[in-house]
Amino acid sequence: MIRYQCDLCKCELSPHDLRYVVQIEVTQAFEPMVDDEADDDRDYLDEIHDILETIEDSSGEEIFQQWRFDLCPACRQKFCKHPLGGDATPVIHFSEN
Ligand SMILES: [Zn+2]
Repeated sequence: MIRYQCDLCKCELSPHDLRYVVQIEVTQAFEPMVDDEADDDRDYLDEIHDILETIEDSSGEEIFQQWRFDLCPACRQKFCKHPLGGDATPVIHFSEN
């Protein structure tokens, strides 16, 4: 039987319990390149290649990270109040229905 554990309070969750999954992705944001001159001969492949080279050059830091957590209902409520862990985090209100 598959057993789950809440990643926050470590309580055990049986398959019949309510369980919530939090998935977090962190990726590097790219500013869209604004080009004033309309250029029909623009080599998009070349530009993509340049972007990829820039990515590889940038310090070897991972530009994509992903996490997945299982949460019990109580921890899900806590998480939704402070998704980033700080008091300054704006509270996101979910509709009750
Ligand atoms: Zn929990």
